[in-house]
Parts: sequence; structure tokens; C-alpha cells
Amino acid sequence: MYKKVYKAIKKYNNIVIARHIGVDPDAMASQIALRDSIIKTFPNKKVYAIGNGSTKFTYLGKLDKYEPTEEPTLLIVLDTPDKRRVDGIEGINYSYSIKIDHHPFVEKFCDIEIMNEESSSTCQLIIEMIYNTKLKRDKEIIGKLFQGLVSDTNRFLFQNSTASTFKIVSQIVKDYNLDLPALYSDLYMRPLSEIRFQGYISQNMQVTENGVGYIEITNTIINKFNVDSSSAGNIVNNFNYIEDILVWLTISEDNKNDTIKISIRSRGPEINKVAENYRGGGHRFASGARVSSMEEAKLLINDLDRECEKYIKENFE
Ligand code: AMP
Repeated sequence: MYKKVYKAIKKYNNIVIARHIGVDPDAMASQIALRDSIIKTFPNKKVYAIGNGSTKFTYLGKLDKYEPTEEPTLLIVLDTPDKRRVDGIEGINYSYSIKIDHHPFVEKFCDIEIMNEESSSTCQLIIEMIYNTKLKRDKEIIGKLFQGLVSDTNRFLFQNSTASTFKIVSQIVKDYNLDLPALYSDLYMRPLSEIRFQGYISQNMQVTENGVGYIEITNTIINKFNVDSSSAGNIVNNFNYIEDILVWLTISEDNKNDTIKISIRSRGPEINKVAENYRGGGHRFASGARVSSMEEAKLLINDLDRECEKYIKENFE
């Protein structure tokens, strides 16, 4: 399959690499690293990594502005299981398309689809592709892919870290003598304001009968703590391994898009099917959703609470 992708990359001179809305390090690192690897391999090709960025991830590199052309174009979509969540491809006239993703299957919308739900991250798939084709690599490209992989496994804490993850990581650390503290520092350095904000979340998190922890984050709170609106989404990863909580979520106002953004994590019950009922989806233990009011968020919390109840009955009683 990777060879087929390589062939398509070789054929097209205009290549656009996209990924999901609500950028995260796995999505952005995979697209930037793949872009840089293609340019390193084929210096005359025009390759664009597109979509809305976030100042939080500037260490991963710069995204590109793209003006649609009549030239035959290859579209590569990374880390996105469904077309509606691909960021910024409206108006692009592409001749051929490829999807590389590690989410549970949602729909087929590309000519070639490489889907591996067992993979820790899209970055892991890109490393495997680069190692198994003639695509070129260097320390910087591999370092970014390592950062995306580390972020999506939450430092190898999640169940998606498997033997194949450790094997490929061992290989790249050996081959490129990666400066781990520097790479981790890019990912995890944060201002004190964010730590104080995390303290607010810990202090104010509500917990349901069966262990759903939730917190509402309004813009007033975001402004009070002087944090980035994407901070809530990052902090949600820090609430794992709390005895009283099986599933936890942040409920954040998103005035720009006139919606309420939900980030959900779990250390047992499967949450993506519940998220799918609330304009969401994602992985079994890391999902997101969108709701239109706090009343709707409460319905989601109730559904998650029922999942926890079932999980407790099946596993602890
Ligand atoms: P987040 O909480 O935003 O970090 O998202 C966790 C996971 O859920 C990621 O794999 C996202 O791609 C996915 N996800 C987040 N929001 C949505 C949504 N509204 N619809 C489908 N998947 C989502």
C-alpha cells in the first residue's frame, strides 16, 4: 500500500496535504513532516500543508497558503476519518486522493485509503511509510514525527502504545540520536497561567455517581486565567489515573464557531459511540463532540454516566 502512495506522490507535481479541523500535534506534525520529506525527495514538486494552525504548535513548522490551480493535483488527507472534518479543502480541484489515518473507520472518501486503527498515531504510519519507501528523511523530519507520536500516545500512557510503537520509536531514536529533552520541552513547556488554570479545573470539576468528571469552561474563565482557548483541550489529557473518575470531559464555549466544544477522555468505558450522537466521534478512549447548549451537554454527561455504570457492572461487580 505504501508503495502505491509513493507512486502517486511521484506522479503528481502539485500536492496538497490536509488534516482535520481543530489541529493537534499528531495531525500537524504528520502533514509538515510528510511535506518536508516529499520536497527533500523531489525538490521540484510543489507541496502544500494546509489548514488553520495554532500558535501553540509553531515549533512544528509553518503551514502554507494554497491558491487552487488547474494543474493536476494530488490530495493527501491525514489523521481524518470523515470528509466533513477535513480542514480547508473546499474549492480544491483534485485529480486523485489518498487518506492515511488511525481513527476508527467512518467513511471512504479517497482513492487510496490506508487505515490502521491499531496504530498509535498518524505520525507512526508516516514514519513506517518513510522507512518503507524511497521517501527521504532527516533528523528534523523524524523529530517532528516523534513529537506527534508522543503527543497522541500521551507519552506512551494510552492503550494505543503497542509493541509496534515501541519498535519504531526505538529504531528512530537509534538512527537519529534524537534529543529527547528538547523535543519534550517543545511539547510540554507551558506558562504558569495554564498550570493555575489546571488548578481551577481540579478544584471545580463535578463528578457524577458513576465517575464522569466534567467542567464547564466559559470565556470569562479563559479570560480570567489569561490562557489560550485551546488550553482546555490540552489540559484534558492531564486527568488520567484519578481513582474517582473513569471518564472526564471539558465543556468549552467556542464563540467564534457559535458552538460548545467537548473533549472527552476515558480510562475504560468506550466513549466514541456516545460522542457520535453529539456531532462528534474519535477514538475509543479519546473523543470530541459539539453541542449547542449546556442542556445538551448534560444529556451527553448522562449518556457517559450510563456507559460508566455498565462498565463498572461488567468489570467490578
Ligand atoms: P480532542 O478532544 O479535540 O483532542 O479530540 C480527541 C479525538 O476526537 C481526536 O482524534 C479528534 O479527531 C476527535 N474529535 C474531536 N472532535 C470531534 C468531532 N466533533 N467529531 C469527530 N471527531 C472528533
